[in-house]
Amino acid sequence: LAERLEDAWKKLRGQDKITPSNIQDALQEVRRALLSADVNLQVVKNFIADVEKAAVGAEVISGVNPGQQFIKIVYDELVKVMGESNVPLAQAKTVPTVILMAGLQGTGKTTATAKLALYLRKENRSCLMVATDVYRPAAIDQLITLGKQIEVPVFELGSQANPVDIATQGLAKAKEMGMDTVIIDTAGRLQIDEEMMVELARIKKAVNPNDTLLVVDAMTGQEAANLSRTFHEQIGITGAILTKLDGDTRGGAALSVRQISGQPIKFIGVGEKVEALQPFYPERMASRILNMGDVLTLVEKAQEEIDIADVEKMQSKIMTAQFDFNDFLKQMRLMKNMGSFGSILKMIPGMNKLSNLDIEKGETELKKTEAMISSMTLEERQNPDLLAKSPSRRRRIAKGSGHVETEVGKLVTNFTRMRGMMQQMGQGNMPGMGGMPGM
Ligand code: GDP
Ligand code: MG
Repeated sequence: LAERLEDAWKKLRGQDKITPSNIQDALQEVRRALLSADVNLQVVKNFIADVEKAAVGAEVISGVNPGQQFIKIVYDELVKVMGESNVPLAQAKTVPTVILMAGLQGTGKTTATAKLALYLRKENRSCLMVATDVYRPAAIDQLITLGKQIEVPVFELGSQANPVDIATQGLAKAKEMGMDTVIIDTAGRLQIDEEMMVELARIKKAVNPNDTLLVVDAMTGQEAANLSRTFHEQIGITGAILTKLDGDTRGGAALSVRQISGQPIKFIGVGEKVEALQPFYPERMASRILNMGDVLTLVEKAQEEIDIADVEKMQSKIMTAQFDFNDFLKQMRLMKNMGSFGSILKMIPGMNKLSNLDIEKGETELKKTEAMISSMTLEERQNPDLLAKSPSRRRRIAKGSGHVETEVGKLVTNFTRMRGMMQQMGQGNMPGMGGMPGM
């Protein structure tokens, strides 16, 4: 996808604005990628509209690969839609916190119940699991077995009892035991049916859960949208767990669930084992949906290039007298974030013949300079003349930064000379930057 997006986007090179017409090819690629990741069609449409809104009018940053810039817009939008950050489990003000599990049969509710209990136990929170699936013969035993395995108690009343009663009594039992959390596992059906919904609604009313989590099989694909709509409308969910992400499904269901219900995905299941539960991270899912293992690298690279564009902005500031030690420090740090001094120098035309020794020297100089500027007061940073005039100030900075006064003097002289030179040169290229490291 990355490559095709770049192709589609290359056409935009040289244009300074992204417009509704020049973006269509690129959007088409995104649409295709999402559909093949099993995102629901309506969800895709909404998402594309969001991306278009975000992209149109975004300036094509000069020097930034337009394909990368577009990928970053898509990626950011995807992360945004999926909730930006991880949403933890709800916690009741007075214990126990009640978590109700909902979902179709076979999606992994019972497994997820045990996974969550283990997860909480690892956080030193006590837990009671309640078995209300009285329909499938082995369902209660399944939870009991899991409970033994993770050393978490299970409340059950056999398979003749009424699920609502089991839930109510289970909650009472958890209170009596002073449990921190009670997780109620419920029965599912192969398809959404009225009886299941009614029963679930009754259980919900009886136990008034803090979290109602819809368990969704990531392999459900397109169906996930419909599923989350129905459950959310009829039961009211507060979050979801997306299971079976250990397979090669792309996780498009995540986007559907989130967009349709508006509720966060809180955890993902990544295997049959009880340990195979992870908090949901929107960034990772965004990469997975876009099917670019290296999307993060790409996005980071785009970010770097955007930083370079920042540097260019800074250069126009250099032309004016306002450029001070603060700007200088900011620029140095920006460069440091972007990678080694050497790799940056090599990007500057004519600088690629520098020897490694020169580069090492440059890096040492940079560190020295940064230390000295760090020891300056705000006033001194804004007004280098203060330093030019006062040996005592220079001595103080030398002491503070672990260097000698003459070095501080040299920094100030060079800085002032460079600034003067740049102002004189005005616009245009700047050959030889006055011996200032980092310039
Ligand atoms: P329930 O009917 O919703 O309670 O589903 P179960 O918890 O009984 O799980 C159904 C099947 O899915 C079982 O074979 C589980 O081992 C399996 N399963 C559950 N979660 C995951 C997961 O995250 N990854 C994989 N690969 N299998 C899972
Ligand atoms: Mg079950």
